Amino acid sequence: MAEAEEITADVAVVGAGFAGLAAARALAAAGVEVVVLEARDRVGGRVERGESDGVLLDLGGTWVGPTQTRALELAAEVGAQTFPQHAAGENQIDIDGEVRRYSGTVPRLGPLALAGLGRLQLSVNRHARRIDTQAPWDYRHAGRLDAASFGDWMKGRRFGRAAAKVMTIVGRTTWGAEPRELSALYALSYVAGGGGTDALFDTEGGAQEGRFVLGAQEFAEKVAAPLAPAIRFGRPVSAIEWGASGAVVQAEGLRVTAGRVIVTVAPPLCEAIAFDPPLPARRDELQRRMRMGALTKAIAIYDEPFWRADGLSGESLSDSSLASLTFDLSPPDGSRGVMGVCTSL
Ligand SMILES: Cc1cc2nc3c(=O)[nH]c(=O)nc-3n(C[C@H](O)[C@H](O)[C@H](O)COP(=O)(O)OP(=O)(O)OC[C@H]3O[C@@H](n4cnc5c(N)ncnc54)[C@H](O)[C@@H]3O)c2cc1C
Repeated sequence: MAEAEEITADVAVVGAGFAGLAAARALAAAGVEVVVLEARDRVGGRVERGESDGVLLDLGGTWVGPTQTRALELAAEVGAQTFPQHAAGENQIDIDGEVRRYSGTVPRLGPLALAGLGRLQLSVNRHARRIDTQAPWDYRHAGRLDAASFGDWMKGRRFGRAAAKVMTIVGRTTWGAEPRELSALYALSYVAGGGGTDALFDTEGGAQEGRFVLGAQEFAEKVAAPLAPAIRFGRPVSAIEWGASGAVVQAEGLRVTAGRVIVTVAPPLCEAIAFDPPLPARRDELQRRMRMGALTKAIAIYDEPFWRADGLSGESLSDSSLASLTFDLSPPDGSRGVMGVCTSL
C-alpha cells in the first residue's frame, strides 16, 4: 500500500460546500494557512450544475433571497450574478381534489381554511420572533416544543386540516421531511433563521427571489478559485484525532497535522468519521439519530414556458400529486421552458 502523503496546516477544513469554502476563504484572508479536504472531485457539495439539451440546470440548491445577506454579499464580492425568479402570473393550488388559481402569496382557500392558515402563520412567526437561533434551547418554551413533533404541535393548536396540509407541502420541500419527523422547536427555529414564514416561503421578497445566472455551482467555484491550491479533491476524511494542541486528520492517501479542524459535513455523514477521543455524547447522539432529508427534484425542459401565455407563473402546490411543488426554472431570457418539480418521494 502506498504511504500516505503528510502535510501540515494551521487549519484543516473538511468539506468544500459553501460552509467549508466560506470558512477557508475567511481564514486565508486573515493570513491563516488552510487546507480543504473534499471527498468528491468538485466544489459546491449540495449545489451542483447540470446540463441537458443545451440548458444549464441547478440540480441542488437553486435560489437566494434577501434574508441570505451573507450569501448575497459573498456573491457580489466574487461576481456571481443573480436574476429574479420568474413570478408573474397566477399560482395554482391543488387541495382536496380541487385545483384553484390565485395571485400573490396566499393560496385561494375557503374562509375557514384561510383563517386557519393565517392563525398558523401568526403562531409560527410569534415563536420564531422570540427564538434566538444561536441558542434555541434557551427559549422559554424550548422543552415543551422539543418534546413534540411539528405535526403534533399543529394538530394540538387546531389550525385546521387545510392549513396543516399547506404547511406540510411547503415543509416537505423545505426540510425534505414530514412534520411528524421534525421537532416543533427545530421547525420553528428554522423559520426564525429564515426571517419568518413570508421571508422563508415567498418568491418576491422571500428566499425564492433570485437565481444565479450561471447556476449556483458557478458561485461556489468563484468562491473556491483563489483557494485552488489549498483544496484537495477525492480525499474523504475517515478519522480525526484531536486534543488541546491540535489534530491529525486522516484522509484518503493524506495525513494532515493541523492546529485546528473545521468539519462542515452534514451531521449524519459525520458518522463516517472516527473521532478520537469521541465527540461529546449529545453531539454523537445527534449524528446517529439525525437523517438527511429526502427530496427528489425532477426537471422538464420544453421549447418555451407555455404556461406563461396562459397567465400562470408555473408555481403550484399539490396535496395529492407526486409533483408537490412546481416552479418555473427557465433561463433568464425565457428562451426555453424549464419546469422544476419537487417531490418528497
Ligand atoms: C435539492 C436541494 C435544493 C436546495 N435548494 C436550496 C435553495 O434553493 N436555496 C438554499 O439556500 N438552499 C437550498 N438547499 C440547501 C443548500 O444547498 C445547502 O444548505 C448548502 O448547499 C449546504 O452547504 P454546506 O457547505 O453546509 O454542506 P454541503 O454542501 O453538503 O457540503 C459538505 C461537503 O462535504 C463533503 N464531504 C462529506 N463527507 C466528507 C468527508 N468524510 N470527507 C471530506 N468531505 C466530505 C461533501 O462532498 C460536500 O462537498 C437545497 C438543497 C438541496 C439538496
